[in-house]
Amino acid sequence: MIRFLVAPLAALALAACGSADTTPDDAAGRDGVWMKGDLHLHSHHSRDALDNPMADLVDIAEARGMDFFVVTDHDNHVDGVIATWDDPDYRSEQMILLYGSEFTTAKGHANTLSATRYDHRALYALRDAGGPALAARADELGVHLSANHPTNSDPWLFGYDGIVDSLEVWNALYAFPSDNRANLDLWDSLMEAGLRMPARGGSDCHHQQGIQPLGLNIGTPTTWVYAAERSAEAVIEAIARGRASISYAPGAERLILDADTDGDGTFETLMGDNAVATGESVRFRVRIDGFRALAGYTLDIVHNGAVVDTLRPSAPETFFTYAPEPGARHYYRVELNGSTPEAETLPAQAIGFYGRKVALSNPVHFGFAD
Ligand SMILES: [Zn+2]
Ligand SMILES: [Zn+2]
Repeated sequence: MIRFLVAPLAALALAACGSADTTPDDAAGRDGVWMKGDLHLHSHHSRDALDNPMADLVDIAEARGMDFFVVTDHDNHVDGVIATWDDPDYRSEQMILLYGSEFTTAKGHANTLSATRYDHRALYALRDAGGPALAARADELGVHLSANHPTNSDPWLFGYDGIVDSLEVWNALYAFPSDNRANLDLWDSLMEAGLRMPARGGSDCHHQQGIQPLGLNIGTPTTWVYAAERSAEAVIEAIARGRASISYAPGAERLILDADTDGDGTFETLMGDNAVATGESVRFRVRIDGFRALAGYTLDIVHNGAVVDTLRPSAPETFFTYAPEPGARHYYRVELNGSTPEAETLPAQAIGFYGRKVALSNPVHFGFAD
């Protein structure tokens, strides 16, 4: 597995820089950029998405303000030869486009993410191989491997520890019909076992016709990343580091979880990071970008797989304090619930499909292996 990509900043055929509403995270003294995107999509190059033309996908993604974008067509529909990347409509002046595909096998599905073109056939050849061989090949190819919808009817059976670089914990509609609660339980069980397993979302949007687009389309959910710079490499590195949170829609609230682990008043430790527990109190900060006063929020604090408190945020910044004891592993993550009036991108009848789940964060870790 590749936890941190070190690819050079080569000229990227698909990448484009554009202006977006992302700004440096000045509040924490950091100089990266927050960027949003969808990490699981199918175009007409997938046989089960023939009514999802590439040009429409790009247009919709741009209209929804996406900063990065990847079309992950099923590789088994094209015998491992990815036509998506050569589609003349897979271009954008506004978004950073990644190279990817959905590795679609009898032992589960995973998305590849890459800043540069790679030989997907070399990965496709290992569809019946074991997890370690698959991970070694992904490493050789320099691609990020991310397990998709790991608990649905195509469960991921290649394994996790040292095999995949991230996990899709939010696929398509949050509440109905979905396996997202089971995905989150799996994620927690992996982290309780000591794995640093970055989480991401993916809409898995297949259609622009029929009923699917009434409730689900590009950006539902949206993954926000904190990237060191506006580049494809930096987007993938941010995902691999867990510097990411997931929101149910492109215009929905965004969560930022960070912590002041050394008590100096600066929230230097960002979600995804791994700190050392000293036994002293640690102050955590949750920022809700796009805070709405009447949303009726509840904020669940998850510590080592269990909800240990539920807060009612009444301002864009909320704080909580714990003192993780030294010598043990700890992680803290948050889930934001509330009303979800996403009229700008979804018909009103879709609201119930998301329940009250607004957003969730990756964790701040203590005492995990680096
Ligand atoms: Zn799939
Ligand atoms: Zn898919």
